[in-house]
Amino acid sequence: MSSDPRSPSPAPIPTDLRRLDDGSIEIHWSDGSSHVHSPRTLRNACPCATCREKRAAEPAVSPLTVLSPEEIRPLTVTGMKPVGQYAYSIAFSDGHETGIYLFDYLHGLGSEG
Ligand SMILES: [Zn+2]
Repeated sequence: MSSDPRSPSPAPIPTDLRRLDDGSIEIHWSDGSSHVHSPRTLRNACPCATCREKRAAEPAVSPLTVLSPEEIRPLTVTGMKPVGQYAYSIAFSDGHETGIYLFDYLHGLGSEG
C-alpha cells in the first residue's frame, strides 16, 4: 500500500480529554476541533447493544415520560479509558459501563450539536 499524503485524512483522534467543572467532558481532536459533551448526551448516545435496543424500542420520547430515580440523579462520567487505538470505554454514575465509543462516533456526536 502506498502512503500518499493526499489520501483521505485519517479519522481524527482525541489529543486531549478533560472533565470540566460541571462534569461535562471536553474532547480535543487531532483535526483541531473540540467538543463538549454532557454526561447525559454521552449516556443517551451509548452505542452498546442494550442501549441501541432500548432506543429502538422507544422511538418517540414522550414529554410525560416518568423518570426513574437513576435518571433524576445527576449523571456523571465516572471513568473513561482508551480501548485499543480506536475507542473509549465510558463508565457512568448509574453503573453503566459497557459502551465502547469509537473515536469516529464520538467525533460525530460533537459535529451534530
Ligand atoms: Zn449502553
